[in-house]
Amino acid sequence: MRRVTIFGATGSIGESTVDLIARDPDGYEVVALTGGRNVGRLAEQAKALNAGLAVTAFDEGYAPLKEALAGTGIEVAAGQDALIEAATRSADWTMSAIVGAAGLLPGLEALKQGNTLALANKESLVTAGPLLMAQARAHDATVLPVDSEHSAVFQALVGEDINAVERIIITASGGAFRDWPDEALKKATLKDACTHPNWDMGQRITIDSASLFNKAMELIETREFFGVPADRIETVIHPESLIHALVGFADGALMAHLGPPDMRHAIGYALHWPDRGHVPVDRLDLAQIGQLNFRRADPARYPALRLAREVMEAGGLAGAVFTAAKEAALDAFIAQHIGFLDMAGVVDATLTTLSGEIAASGDLSLDSVIAADHLARKTADTHIAALR
Ligand code: NDP
Repeated sequence: MRRVTIFGATGSIGESTVDLIARDPDGYEVVALTGGRNVGRLAEQAKALNAGLAVTAFDEGYAPLKEALAGTGIEVAAGQDALIEAATRSADWTMSAIVGAAGLLPGLEALKQGNTLALANKESLVTAGPLLMAQARAHDATVLPVDSEHSAVFQALVGEDINAVERIIITASGGAFRDWPDEALKKATLKDACTHPNWDMGQRITIDSASLFNKAMELIETREFFGVPADRIETVIHPESLIHALVGFADGALMAHLGPPDMRHAIGYALHWPDRGHVPVDRLDLAQIGQLNFRRADPARYPALRLAREVMEAGGLAGAVFTAAKEAALDAFIAQHIGFLDMAGVVDATLTTLSGEIAASGDLSLDSVIAADHLARKTADTHIAALR
């Protein structure tokens, strides 16, 4: 029996992970499940999977969670310290699927066990990729990508020499506004941005897909995960979302990974790795699909892509500032305090304001990353206030 823990179990990635694990009750012992505000769902999952521990990230969730799990024997805890404590409990495989920079500390802690971290939380890599990967190396732990693009690259690289890689191409669906004229984007509403043409995901990543901030994070994630220089990482709009990524080699060959837009594919790969087990996703019928389309991702239309390039070039604390500013801007858009196009403006302005701090950053430490995160949120808030 493999011991597993799921951080962010109540979210979109968490639910898909729970679904896969629930299909094989004899295969897994669930050490811990964590959630945020959705305490009712966390309790249901903990009961269904007979988890050892259920943790809500917020103190106020403790009493309702305790009540919902009364008499089950499942341990209950709440708060940030409890999340970190859950990461210290011995598990062979841990899913990191908290949304946002909040996923960084539990991920870093889980790596200390020297086991496997399945990483959906892309913000960890964007914010502090060098720290996370160094932690994995120091403890001989394995980090497996769960983002579909990075899982695809990882699979295309099996048995290959990374030095023979000429380029990595990650595809982008183009999100909710793929076919909107540029002019209309100014008036895009929250509701418009929350509808993804292909994927069923959490609200935040769905909006990030519409602005291509999700793709921007993935460009940085690719650099951090695979160590390939930024100028060898490309993105292309692929409306069908069936090819998730391609790897180009020195001989001109391009290896593409195809699969249905169902995150259980990438999660299942990470769960069964290094083997391939059965994963209950639709099988592609290529004749029925007929054709696949591609178009260039225009950086003028998608400033997030330009910002990602600037962040990769700057290095140091630029990723932490970028993630924090993007999260503050996204919060403000969700609260309907700023417009859709303002998000990129806020991130751009925050990076510019803090360019001196970024240039002076040197080697990353957890303390410097946390300080940069706080400073960037404060700075972004002043830029947001100026727009209201
Ligand atoms: P969701 O918003 O659906 O779920 C987020 C999870 O994190 C929930 O369990 C939520 O709890 C919990 N959570 C929210 N805030 C906090 C916090 N401050 N501290 C601790 N836990 C918190 O997100 P997704 O599942 O869509 O995404 C999760 C991660 O995976 C993100 O980093 C995303 O970029 C990445 N990802 C997602 C994909 C997808 O298809 N959804 C694809 C590839 C990557 P609750 O809901 O109970 O409040």
